[in-house]
Amino acid sequence: MSQNEAIDKPTNFIRHIIDEDLASHKHDHVHTRFPPEPNGYLHIGHAKSICLNFGLAEDYNGACNLRFDDTNPTKEDIEYVESIMRDVAWLGFKWEGEPRYSSNYFQQFHDYAVELINKGLAYVDFSSPEEMREARGTLKEPGKNSPYRDTSADENLVLFTKMRQGEFKEGECVLRAKIDMASSFMCMRDPTLYRIRFETHHQTGDAWCIYPMYDFAHCISDAIEGISHSLCTLEFQDNRRLYDWVLDNLDDFNKPDRPHQYEFSRLNLAYTVMSKRKLHQLVDDKLVSGWDDPRMPTVSGMRRRGYTPASLRDFAERIGISKVDSMTEMSILEASIRDDLNVVAPRTMGVIDPIKVIIENYPEGQVESIQAPVHPQNEEMGKREIFFSRELYIDRADFIEEAPNKKWQRLAIDKEVRLRNAYIVKAERFETDAAGNVTTLYCSYDPETLGKNPADGRKVKGVIHFVEATKAVPAEFRLYDRLFTVENPGKSEDFESVLNPESLKIMQGFVEPNLADSVPEVAYQFEREGYFCRDNKSEGLVFNKTVGLRDTWTQAQ
Ligand code: ATP
Ligand code: MG
Repeated sequence: MSQNEAIDKPTNFIRHIIDEDLASHKHDHVHTRFPPEPNGYLHIGHAKSICLNFGLAEDYNGACNLRFDDTNPTKEDIEYVESIMRDVAWLGFKWEGEPRYSSNYFQQFHDYAVELINKGLAYVDFSSPEEMREARGTLKEPGKNSPYRDTSADENLVLFTKMRQGEFKEGECVLRAKIDMASSFMCMRDPTLYRIRFETHHQTGDAWCIYPMYDFAHCISDAIEGISHSLCTLEFQDNRRLYDWVLDNLDDFNKPDRPHQYEFSRLNLAYTVMSKRKLHQLVDDKLVSGWDDPRMPTVSGMRRRGYTPASLRDFAERIGISKVDSMTEMSILEASIRDDLNVVAPRTMGVIDPIKVIIENYPEGQVESIQAPVHPQNEEMGKREIFFSRELYIDRADFIEEAPNKKWQRLAIDKEVRLRNAYIVKAERFETDAAGNVTTLYCSYDPETLGKNPADGRKVKGVIHFVEATKAVPAEFRLYDRLFTVENPGKSEDFESVLNPESLKIMQGFVEPNLADSVPEVAYQFEREGYFCRDNKSEGLVFNKTVGLRDTWTQAQ
């Protein structure tokens, strides 16, 4: 039995490949890596890749490296390095040893480039970017060889040394692989391996003024680290030829157990964007409050909104791994968090849009303590203390002057409902402000109905939530909706024009007093309203709505 068969997880084509590689002893162990470029915060698509890479390592008793693919100093920053480590750890994964940096290998990349030059497989090209573009050809037409293609190895060595020593200007020349200008794969038409950048790098400072390209650095980094299976998204399918070409042409790596690249389809999630460039734009243009805005599809945003590591891991499992590009519905993600929180979230009551209720037949000055279950389906979670008195708050939406139909199960004049965990009350009359909004609702209560049905057998079906007014704690509620109004906002260049203006609604209401010292990011189910958690950045009592109790979105579509 392979190690994988011992694990109760849906299989996929990558697991099949690993099983075969272990069976044939091409590899004796599974070593994967997650290689983010530190040029932004991680998003839910990265989470898919993290769960895949770290998940395989866990399941096969292997290892997974965290490697910062930091070969492009212009857009990278230490802030991103730190946020990425925080997010991977929060998701519950442990990388092998210390985090790695591609920049740790700058000397090796350089030396391997020299090996290719010595073998006549790389040359310094002084063509202008314009000339190179023209000579590259098209998908239908082969490219043309560069006039610098036949420079001798010795001369190329001298030139490359000068590049490295900063004797050429930025853009004056590049180092290119000498492969095939007629290849049907554009990436094989003498791709650039190195370019000049006079930039300070966040790890290596000013030690280097030449920086390797992704396609050159990535495969060598994998090989240096002894990666067995290098997993990436489908857009790198063609580049696999170059990955193999580089490793096959370097003496250290031309062995059967060198890493191989496999591609899977990236996650696309409806009603949001995932490209870091676009997420950057939302942050830079202040259309969201930051990378961790709870509406962002970033790991830090989702965390702040109340998503749990378990829910994101579960989501990754639900969507699976394939080679088919598709659009994933937000409802799948939301089902993952609902299923998690339904089990673990303590129940509580919060009134988001309050109106005052006066119980006229309740003794003035009396406040009654009631024990309510923390979770109705799980007694072990214990009880919490709630209160009842003459003054309460209920939600504005739970009262209407006249019931619109027989199905109305909330309050209306002369109608009874049960206040959750407390008594049955009946609406008697109400007051409004000048604009006609209800300000105070006057009710009576039936003192014989705490925790039991009315003795006279009358049926009261409706249940609404409330908080007792003198003990309630004021709180802000932030209600989120889709960030965009269209399913695939990334499609339009002007994706900012399809932002949902109602993606954030802020309300001032009240919560049970026991939430005064609630812990940020810990989920509660506000009964009848949804799952919320306390915001991890705000000073006061601010609750972010994670998700509603039911999938009202899909129903509405
Ligand atoms: P973006 O396109 O958002 O800028 P990227 O691919 O440039 O992302 P990297 O930091 O290079 O971002 O990604 C690190 C790893 O995460 C890569 O292996 C990449 O394939 C994977 N990854 C990125 N986006 C997704 C996604 N939407 N679904 C699955 N994996 C992804
Ligand atoms: Mg990338």
